[in-house]
Amino acid sequence: MRCLVTSARQYDREYLEAANAGRHDLVFEETRLSARTAPIAQGFPAICPFVDDQLDADVLKTLAQLGTKLLVLRSTGYNHVHIPTAEQLGIAVMRVRDYSAYAVAEFALSLMLCLNRHVHRAYNRVRHGNLLLDGLLGFDMHGKTVGIVGTGKIGTALARILHGMGCTIVGHDVTRNPECEALGVRYTSLDELLSLSQVISLHLPLLPETRHLINAERLAQIRPGALLINTSRGALVDTSALITALKQRQLGGVGLDVYEEEAELYFRDHSEDIIYDDVFERLLTFPNVIVTGHQAFFTQEALRTIAATTIQNLTDYSAGRSNENAVTSK
Ligand code: NAD
Repeated sequence: MRCLVTSARQYDREYLEAANAGRHDLVFEETRLSARTAPIAQGFPAICPFVDDQLDADVLKTLAQLGTKLLVLRSTGYNHVHIPTAEQLGIAVMRVRDYSAYAVAEFALSLMLCLNRHVHRAYNRVRHGNLLLDGLLGFDMHGKTVGIVGTGKIGTALARILHGMGCTIVGHDVTRNPECEALGVRYTSLDELLSLSQVISLHLPLLPETRHLINAERLAQIRPGALLINTSRGALVDTSALITALKQRQLGGVGLDVYEEEAELYFRDHSEDIIYDDVFERLLTFPNVIVTGHQAFFTQEALRTIAATTIQNLTDYSAGRSNENAVTSK
């Protein structure tokens, strides 16, 4: 099947070409899909977008006019695609349901440990010849209460790691996961989780009902000095309210791999530009905030699985087969 891979980086090409082994006609394009760039889809029945590609109702309508029949997403999350419009237009959407829960869970852990022990600050200090320990005091993770919001694949992988570290784990989800319960995770309301936990990690999808789940009111419920980690989707957190809470010293630290307005900013080099997003720039001024550019998924194992699943999705669609990766609004 002829497929245009958008927002393609060299690593996408490398892993997708290896998984494809010549089966489909893949064309790689660095351009990010948007209303302006959608015409590049002309002549491609399949498009393979990434999380920063814009696939709102207008872009989907243009794609349908250009003959697009299938979107094979290189991601688990599909909040960047307006699924009801895709359905209306007869564009099938397939995703990578599961690639490496470990990749994201381990990255969430690395943000926790880095923030808690101030590794980001120590790295810079030592390079400037400052070997003082003042300001670098952390706490043992052992025995601390960690709240996991969303105990699906990634939340459970994190629970397993934290269990091994001797943490007390509380969980919040719309459904209880028996594997987490077997690990001793105690399910609570979100309010209770926020007030109990010394570390909070978000692992749930961005949906209309989870948008700004962590707003000013919820931030005020967080136990003073707690660490907040978000490796899921930026808009789960109201960033302006987060900045206010940070200024008021309500939080011990914040680790963000994702950002509400990341689509215009992430996966590009801005080192020679001026960044006009003042909210993003304000976040970077806090000594107790670590921001990374949506890299939690970025391991060799995850790229290999994303590529293999994407090629399998193309093959199944071409053969008229559906599979568990098909996304519907139901
Ligand atoms: P999953 O579907 O296995 O788990 C999500 C969990 O969230 C489920 O248990 C679900 O019941 C729960 N949930 C849904 N709505 C909820 C609500 N309103 N309140 C409480 N819980 C709710 O998904 P996963 O594979 O664990 O991935 C979680 C998220 O991580 C994805 O949706 C994606 O946005 C994000 N992600 C980020 C990266 C990255 O590189 N930063 C990579 C992969 C996934």
